[in-house]
Amino acid sequence: MDNINPSTTAILSRTDKLVFKCPTCPANITVSLAQIDRIAGANVLCTGCKNIVHVPGAYGSNAKSVGLKITGGVTVTIADFNEWWGNHRLVASLLKDGELDLLYDYGLWAFCEKCYHRYHPYAVFCLPVGQRATSTKISTELMPESGRDLEALLSGYCPSCHHSRFIVIVAEIPDYVRTTIIKRRGIVTGNKTNLTEKILSVKKLFSKKP
Ligand SMILES: [Zn+2]
Ligand SMILES: [Zn+2]
Repeated sequence: MDNINPSTTAILSRTDKLVFKCPTCPANITVSLAQIDRIAGANVLCTGCKNIVHVPGAYGSNAKSVGLKITGGVTVTIADFNEWWGNHRLVASLLKDGELDLLYDYGLWAFCEKCYHRYHPYAVFCLPVGQRATSTKISTELMPESGRDLEALLSGYCPSCHHSRFIVIVAEIPDYVRTTIIKRRGIVTGNKTNLTEKILSVKKLFSKKP
């Protein structure tokens, strides 16, 4: 099994609105350029297939967007997420390049398939480690919001509607986003090693307390 999220570069028009083909169904999706954040982009619901689709921020301006992928979600059973994640081509490539942690800030989004509860990206990021761990005791290092989401995900159900599947997007990180994240983290932490420490702490979240 080799997973990848469906994507499209088929833009139909772009004036004050961006119109493109949904990556997972025959419908066209329209989003106003003003709704697309220049860095964070936009996550848009397809009214045809009810999937969530990520539009990179460059589509909000007139430059730089040619060829960037618009990425659709994949529906995954929460309990099987570790397996799906472990077979995702983009996850493997980010891991190889030592850039997996960039997904805290961009490129990883998850929503309940039924009620569209938006899961905290950090909770989704920690989920595979939690599903592999022998202890599911979660450390208090997590923020209340991500901690509550992680607890629900480890139980296999949405915290709002108890649904057992979610829509997950793993998208390529454009260069302008990568630069922005690294610059922003540099200012906030003033210390590059902080990134590695944060990755290590994901594993520590689940370690058994003596
Ligand atoms: Zn669709
Ligand atoms: Zn839900």
